[in-house]
Amino acid sequence: MYNVLLQRQIKKYLGGGEVIPDEYRPLLNAINESYNHYEADRNLIERSMDLSSLELIDVNRKLRQEADRHRIVLGKLRQALQVLRLDAGEVDGPDDDENFDDSDLIEVAELLRKQIDRRHEAEGKLLESEARFRLLAENSTDIIGRYSPEGICLYLSPSCRSLLGYEPEEMIGGRFAFGIHPADIDHVARISDMVGGATDVTTSCFRFLKKDGDYIWLETTMHAIRDSESGEMIEVHMASRDITARKRDEDELQLLSLVASKTDNAVLITNRLGQIEWVNESFIRFSGYTLEEAVGYRPSELLHGPLTSPETLNEINVALWNARPITSEILYYHKDGHTYWLSATITPILDATGQVERFVAIQSDITEQKQIAMELQYRTSRLTALVENLQAGVLVEDESERIVIMNQTFCDMFEIRQSPQDLVGKESEGLAEGAKRLFADPEGFVRRVNEVMAGRTLCIDEELVLTDGRIFERDYIPIFVGDIYRGHLWHCRDVTERKQAQAAINALNSELKETNHLLRIERDKEKEHVRVLEELNQMKSEFVSSVSHELRTPLASIIGFTQTILIDPDLPGEMQREFLQIVFDEAKRLAKLINDMLDLSRIESGSAIVEKSPTDVIPLVERGIQSVVMQAEARGISVTSVVDRPSLIANIDPDRTLQVIINLLSNAVKFTPDGGWVQIRVRVEGSEVILEVQDTGMGIPEGDLPNLFQKFFRVHRPGTAIRGTGLGLAITKHIVELQAGTITVQSTENVGSTFTVRFPQQ
Ligand code: ADP
Repeated sequence: MYNVLLQRQIKKYLGGGEVIPDEYRPLLNAINESYNHYEADRNLIERSMDLSSLELIDVNRKLRQEADRHRIVLGKLRQALQVLRLDAGEVDGPDDDENFDDSDLIEVAELLRKQIDRRHEAEGKLLESEARFRLLAENSTDIIGRYSPEGICLYLSPSCRSLLGYEPEEMIGGRFAFGIHPADIDHVARISDMVGGATDVTTSCFRFLKKDGDYIWLETTMHAIRDSESGEMIEVHMASRDITARKRDEDELQLLSLVASKTDNAVLITNRLGQIEWVNESFIRFSGYTLEEAVGYRPSELLHGPLTSPETLNEINVALWNARPITSEILYYHKDGHTYWLSATITPILDATGQVERFVAIQSDITEQKQIAMELQYRTSRLTALVENLQAGVLVEDESERIVIMNQTFCDMFEIRQSPQDLVGKESEGLAEGAKRLFADPEGFVRRVNEVMAGRTLCIDEELVLTDGRIFERDYIPIFVGDIYRGHLWHCRDVTERKQAQAAINALNSELKETNHLLRIERDKEKEHVRVLEELNQMKSEFVSSVSHELRTPLASIIGFTQTILIDPDLPGEMQREFLQIVFDEAKRLAKLINDMLDLSRIESGSAIVEKSPTDVIPLVERGIQSVVMQAEARGISVTSVVDRPSLIANIDPDRTLQVIINLLSNAVKFTPDGGWVQIRVRVEGSEVILEVQDTGMGIPEGDLPNLFQKFFRVHRPGTAIRGTGLGLAITKHIVELQAGTITVQSTENVGSTFTVRFPQQ
């Protein structure tokens, strides 16, 4: 079968139905072959334009073979032309025009020449292409390589040096697979097996071990090169590109995509016009809108409402308009109408030319924080109002001594000129230094402030004395959150007035105490008085019974004995005398008793008169002894006196003093058992005359001593029949005191008593 072109020629010149003579066959075959080669060449050339440089090498090889074959064909053609020329006259061919003549041959020759020219041109292009390939391969940042179908490296471009760290020579002759990451080997092997089988071009990505031990990500395209005639794979060409960075970006992107879809934060992506392109699950949860509902809308159309702050929206718009990222807190409206607070960070994404391509917004729900913040703000404002209106000065500092809260009172107290508003947020350093001049001990004040702050322990009610006399009280309260120190509170109050009031109260208190003490004394006295009165009452009733007894007994004796004398005229005279003596003694006792009572009542009523005159005491003592001596001697009691001078003159009432001496001596005798002794001593001590009456009597119980000089008081002495009225010592004390003297007693039970009287001599 001839080539289409030749067929057209044969039809034109030999006629359709003619049987082609055998002698034409060689020429036609030659021409046909030429046509075929020409077409093949043209295809090759056309392909070579498209083929990679390496294919061009192959094409070149084939073209050379073709050229050789052409040369042979040309030779044959020339021979054919020769034959053709020789046989021209003998051939019974078509008419002139249709004859296969010289012009045809010239045409054929011309075609062949053109064909040769084009082949030369293709060869030139091939060379050029080859040069370009080399240039490309040698200068490419990708690794370009040629491999045998068995996988042996035939060529590797120099970029393997920079990308893999190997010299091309180290790799040529070896297998590429040696460096593939173990995890990628199966995948690469599967892909490689496809080359030359299922497909001629494959692309795979894998990690490759560099000479320095690190892995590089390569994207490798393998291209099977086939023999054009046999179709057999003769080489594999490979181009590998470093995609480590891209891979990292991809991984990151993959991670980010995962994060974006799974994060608790709402993520929404809009186009450059702000229309939603994508939202994640959290957005759907927050807003109530599904992805389908949200896509195409601007967030403002879906999420904003009457309470959404226009200022915030404006701020966001300005920032985004200027391609600046912005973070804002926005009140959004849920699809069902309820509101929620979001913190949104909106970032413009720029394209390669720097133009905004889209916006990405990441939103977190801060409704709860916002509510807490609002509550906190409310509380803080209340706290601030409270602190502002406190009478005390308040200063709160944080852990780095920055002022957090301060009130005007504090500024006033420490004469700080700036206002609290100006100072809040600033360092408090220097405040103590500035205020120290106000204090009585300025250095001490500063030292203590530093000491307290370093200690971080609670200090309450520390007193600060100011130079003007005022007094401040200061508390330091450290603030700990858990175990972490977060600052401290100074709390100061002017306590001058309170201190003054306190001092006044203290003074009043001590006065009150004194008054109480006096009152107690008075009350005790009163009690004592009552007790005395009660005792007196008791004594009085005892006296009444005693007096009535004392009065009735002698009276009964007197009446009985006188009656006996009167009734019995025969009573012997001796008995009459004895009875009359008894009547006389009893009458005397009655008289004494009555005298004593009258005496006491006179003295107590103030009508008793003391008439002092210089009197010799010694004779009075003698008379006193005489008045008791008979009674004493009757009971075997000796009565003696000790006097260190013959006379002792003192300014006293002689009768009354004698009464004192007699009273004391008669008591001494009365209360001394038989056979005892009584002694009276007189002496002068300084300006005083001292009379002492001592006995060896029964003594007086200690508990009775304080009452001894009370009227009607008598020591209770069960089992004794000593008579008395309890008036003697009371009268004695009154008489002594009327003469500006004193009387005391010392006594020991069953040993004796000593009564001591002191008179001023003058
Ligand atoms: P009376 O009339 O009872 O003696 P006085 O006033 O003289 O009254 O004495 C009061 C009391 O003091 C007496 O009842 C007696 O018990 C006691 N007394 C006085 N002198 C002595 C004394 N020398 N020794 C012991 N007791 C005495």
